[in-house]
Amino acid sequence: MTFSLAIVGRPNVGKSTLFNRLVGKRLALVDDQPGVTRDLREGEARLGDLRFTAIDTAGLEEATDESLQGRMRKLTERAVEMADICLFVIDARAGVTPTDEIFADILRRKNAHVILAANKAEGSAADAGVYEAYGLGLGEPIRLSAEHGEGFNDLYSMLMPLSDAFKKRAEAEAPDTDLELEEDGDYEAGPDVTTAARVPTNAKPLQVAVVGRPNAGKSTLINKILGEERLLTGPEAGITRDSISLRIDWTGTPMRIFDTAGMRKKAKVQEKLEKLSVSDGLRAVKFAEVVVVLLDVSIPFEQQDLRIADLAEREGRAVVIAVNKWDVEDDKQEKLAELKEEFARLLPQLRGAPLITVSARTGRGLERLREAILRAHEVWNRRVTTARLNQWLSAMVEAHPPPAPGGRRIKIRYMTQVKTRPPAFVAMCSFPEKLPESYKRYLVNGLREDFDMPGTPIRFTFRSQA
Ligand code: GDP
Ligand code: GDP
Repeated sequence: MTFSLAIVGRPNVGKSTLFNRLVGKRLALVDDQPGVTRDLREGEARLGDLRFTAIDTAGLEEATDESLQGRMRKLTERAVEMADICLFVIDARAGVTPTDEIFADILRRKNAHVILAANKAEGSAADAGVYEAYGLGLGEPIRLSAEHGEGFNDLYSMLMPLSDAFKKRAEAEAPDTDLELEEDGDYEAGPDVTTAARVPTNAKPLQVAVVGRPNAGKSTLINKILGEERLLTGPEAGITRDSISLRIDWTGTPMRIFDTAGMRKKAKVQEKLEKLSVSDGLRAVKFAEVVVVLLDVSIPFEQQDLRIADLAEREGRAVVIAVNKWDVEDDKQEKLAELKEEFARLLPQLRGAPLITVSARTGRGLERLREAILRAHEVWNRRVTTARLNQWLSAMVEAHPPPAPGGRRIKIRYMTQVKTRPPAFVAMCSFPEKLPESYKRYLVNGLREDFDMPGTPIRFTFRSQA
């Protein structure tokens, strides 16, 4: 069993239906102890090639009185504490209700790793509810229909990378694997670092992945950050390392850095390196809030760099481009101009993302890198009020009206931000299918500039009025 998944949400959203679909008849625990009321059901779930423990919190009636509300809350909190991941289910047909908001608060407060599912999403009657779910601020909802068996592919692709990561963690925590790693010698956890420990955190650490081609300098960079932090805070303070990540307070900012380089160094077989570093990169991107694409200044914007940067954009992560080994560059000014030109030409989808030059070896530029990460994260989380957006929209439309294909002008009437992380906007519009890409770019670029949102993907959807 790789991990556990708690299915939580208010009554009647379809938790049991979902649980039954995942678990079938493979119930591990049943309600057979006399005198004991079991509130939580557990079962061995299967989804594709994934095996995990599913925990069902269903079984309570709609909470009408105080005590039932309390019980519902307690039960959910217990499930959240037990499970690695929470699948938070809402009913897309009913939309987001106040009780859903209570659950969302519990999950946020408990810092749970949440996957949001909008259930009963078969058919278009559920569209509005799915959009409302974005507003919970718990990430993009998966459209599910537990009853009709729809959306399970999406659930699978959310769980798969997590499952891999939990597997890695379990392997690294196994004592014999640890021994083997230490004998390897080329992966230095060091005696002053706690292996496989997880620090309890007050503030949720900012999740950062450092990705890039082999030899870009990822390990050097991470070790430099660690080294400098130790100089500041003493050998052990605030730094822990497990198989997939480092937990560190980087000059006061709690961060969890996904250590793809460290993972790769554990690989024994040399020829696996390239392949591994790619898949590790993918996994890191899935986890991260901010992705640092580390380039080697002597061979910047290689195919592999472009692929991973594009993936980070498509996955909606905030992106910072860091050009490493800046110490070896002689004509820095000319090189910087060249890099900026290449960046704009090769990664137009990342327009506005910061490009920072660093030297992992000397430590120059690391403070600027830290600031760029923080800022990208802040922008990624930013919310713009509907009032400001619509003021802005009417000015944009007035300055440059949308075209009138076939003599009928496309009208964009109203827009709103439906989610953050990354910022996503929806505009209501007549003939959205006729709106040219160039006009959409005009609006997206305008949003980016006028609301100062560099370094984050922006999603903008145009929908016809209901
Ligand atoms: P729970 O209280 O959250 O465990 O919800 P249940 O699993 O008992 O489901 C509540 C009701 O919603 C039942 O009548 C289900 O048949 C129905 N339901 C569950 N999933 C779906 C779905 O995907 N689509 C539709 N239309 N109904 C569903
Ligand atoms: P990784 O494969 O991305 O983890 O790369 P490494 O951290 O192992 O670095 C690859 C090589 O580049 C090593 O020889 C490092 O010493 C070197 N290197 C890393 N960062 C810098 C830097 O900022 N400047 C210079 N000149 N060399 C660096």
